[in-house]
Amino acid sequence: MMENQYGVRRLACALLAEACFGGLRSKLRNGKRRQAAALQKVILYTLTPILLFGCSEQEVAMNNFPVEKSDAEWHSELTPEQYRVLREAGTERPFTGVYTDSEALGVYRCAGCDAELFTSDNKFHSGCGWPAFDDVAKTDRVILREDRSLGMVRTEVLCANCGGHLGHLFNDGPAETTGLRYCINSAALEFEQKEEVNCE
Ligand SMILES: [Zn+2]
Repeated sequence: MMENQYGVRRLACALLAEACFGGLRSKLRNGKRRQAAALQKVILYTLTPILLFGCSEQEVAMNNFPVEKSDAEWHSELTPEQYRVLREAGTERPFTGVYTDSEALGVYRCAGCDAELFTSDNKFHSGCGWPAFDDVAKTDRVILREDRSLGMVRTEVLCANCGGHLGHLFNDGPAETTGLRYCINSAALEFEQKEEVNCE
C-alpha cells in the first residue's frame, strides 16, 4: 500500500518535471505554444492534489513513534475502553474514570506503552470530570497537536512514545502554578502507587 503510494508520488513528480521541462520543449520548438500552455495547466492541476497528498503523508511519517504496534496487537493488549480512547481518540464519559478524584501518591503511566507521563504531584481537582494535571512528568513525554474535531479548536495530548491519545490541554489550570490543565482520560493511564516510606 505504502509502496504503491510512494510509486504514484514518484510517477507524479516525474510527470510534472517532464511537463514543465521535458515534453513541452518539442511543442515549443514546433511553435505550438498555446497547446503547450494548456497541456501544462491540465497536468499541473491534476498533479497538484497528488503532490499535496504526498505532503500530508510526509507529515504522518514524521509521527513515527518509538513504540509501533499493529492494530491487532493493540486490540489484544488493551481493554475495549482503552483502545477506544488511546487508538481512536475517544473520550470517556465525565466522572466515570477511576482516577478522576484519586489523591494517591505515585506515577501515572501510559496504558498503551508504560511510559511515565504524569505524577501525583501535578494532579489537582479541576471539577471537570476527568483527571487533571498542571504539568507533565517531563516535557518530552507528550506531543501536542491541533485538534479541529467536533467543531472546536483544541490541543490534543498524545503519548510521545506510542502516539496514544491521552486527552486535551487547556489554559484554565491553576494560576498559581502553570495555568495549564492537562485533561486526561483515566482509561489512557495506569497508576503506579509510590511505596510508603516507613519512618518508624
Ligand atoms: Zn504510550
